[in-house]
Amino acid sequence: MEPAEPKRPARGKTAMELTTDVCVIGSGAGGAPVATELALAGAKVILIEAGGPAPLAKLGEPVFKSFRRMIAWKTAHLSVARGIPANPIVHGRCEGGSTALNAGSAFRLPEFLARRWEAAGTGDLREYFNRADTFLQVSATDPQFFGRSGELMLEGVRAKNWKGGAVPRNAPGCTGRAICVAGCPEKAKRATHISYLPVAREHGAQVLLNTQARKLRLKGRTAAGVDAVGANGEEITIHAGKTVVSAGAVLTPPLLERSGVEVPGLGGNFLLHPGGVLAVHFGEPIDMGGNSVPQSTYCDEFLESEGSMILLGSVPPQLSVPALLFAGALRDLSKVRNTAFWGALIRDEGNRGRVSATRKGRDLRYALGAGELRRLRTALLRVGELAFAAGARAVTPILLGSKRSSSLRELEKNLPDPLPAWRLLGGSVHPMGTCGIGRVCEGDGRVRGYEKLYVSDASLFPTSIGVNPQFTIMALATRVAMGLLDGVG
Ligand SMILES: Cc1cc2nc3c(=O)[nH]c(=O)nc-3n(C[C@H](O)[C@H](O)[C@H](O)COP(=O)(O)OP(=O)(O)OC[C@H]3O[C@@H](n4cnc5c(N)ncnc54)[C@H](O)[C@@H]3O)c2cc1C
Ligand code: SF4
Repeated sequence: MEPAEPKRPARGKTAMELTTDVCVIGSGAGGAPVATELALAGAKVILIEAGGPAPLAKLGEPVFKSFRRMIAWKTAHLSVARGIPANPIVHGRCEGGSTALNAGSAFRLPEFLARRWEAAGTGDLREYFNRADTFLQVSATDPQFFGRSGELMLEGVRAKNWKGGAVPRNAPGCTGRAICVAGCPEKAKRATHISYLPVAREHGAQVLLNTQARKLRLKGRTAAGVDAVGANGEEITIHAGKTVVSAGAVLTPPLLERSGVEVPGLGGNFLLHPGGVLAVHFGEPIDMGGNSVPQSTYCDEFLESEGSMILLGSVPPQLSVPALLFAGALRDLSKVRNTAFWGALIRDEGNRGRVSATRKGRDLRYALGAGELRRLRTALLRVGELAFAAGARAVTPILLGSKRSSSLRELEKNLPDPLPAWRLLGGSVHPMGTCGIGRVCEGDGRVRGYEKLYVSDASLFPTSIGVNPQFTIMALATRVAMGLLDGVG
């Protein structure tokens, strides 16, 4: 069934009034665990989701066809953070939120950050990770789906004696078709519409798709529910004992702001995990995107010391060729088969950007600082070091006006210091931090200065984490749910 875009409601017409213990807005990594845990405990729960059903790629279909269908169904939002470079941000707009589109990598919060987060107010999250894992079933990528690129990365890791391994994933029945972002055709990836929401429904939760929260209902500084618009443009008023906003780090702050919530710092501390990619040219076929998973192996040797995490990205030629053309790295089309994409995420500092509400929607700004640019350059050099240790013949950074380098020394010369921001290819799928714990929200997700109003999504991150965030969002959401259990029902 194709999801329909909610139409504007007829002015002043209330079509439906619902009453519940808890209303959750958003069905992604932050919303679904809260709704499920509360329903399991016997609370009356309504979850509203702006998008329709999650996308489902068809086996054997070219990836562009799946993407075209996703665009037609509007299963993702595209938000652009203004700055240099501009950062297009893709985030889900469907059942499962961004988890329906993600690559299935599922890392825990790094230990060195767990202690800092505890001090910021999250408390010890270990039991919540374990609880979320009962839904996600995380395990290391099966070596048969490493792909040649993944095997070579591990050879490099061993040659350098660095830390790294197989990426943990929440996709136990995966058959390695590498198109998770278009909607896993095997339903192997345990996105929230597969792992959590069926349990929530079984335990009585009402999940309303194509239903968009317009405004929170506030009585002074106490939340009392949501005004929403349904699939056919009908107005829906939800009276709720407690309201949980899980619209994601880009959309949660504007919804709060538009509803009249005033908390210092709301929408600030916008974090993105800036990243960079090297096209790594080997002397043998790599065949990215074939019989592998999107991210199979990683190297986290420098996560704590230099704030960077190395991951490979396995993308089909339809996506890799445009990126290679952007960087001027495509000398010979026949060599695409021999090219791997190895990238690095970096931990960004706070105060680089903010998200705010505008009359028409939202305004996003993000500017890389000197610290991020330094870290990015160092990270790209580390990726190059790893690639040459794995036997690469040459590497080309995916930057505007890039040059091919046949040695680490050449790469050092070809990567200007400082790295000019305008040469970078921006973009992110990890928006975080805009209602951070310790600044805008309390450790249990409650919005500071407000009663019965909670946030549960990537906005809660007190800092950037440097690893893919979904598992940590779900652990935090489990913590929010357990706190909410005191006093509902
Ligand atoms: C292509 C891609 C690949 C990724 N790969 C990985 C990966 O491999 N591993 C990993 O850990 N992370 C990955 N991520 C990131 C991860 O999926 C997200 O960080 C995570 O899902 C964010 O959770 P969230 O709850 O903050 O927001 P989301 O999961 O985005 O959920 C927010 C939901 O709220 C809904 N919503 C928004 N506004 C409203 C409203 N007004 N009314 C009703 N509903 C509303 C949205 O439609 C959406 O469904 C990836 C993301 C993308 C897009
Ligand atoms: S790689 Fe695995 S999890 Fe991803 S789409 Fe293919 S089968 Fe599903």
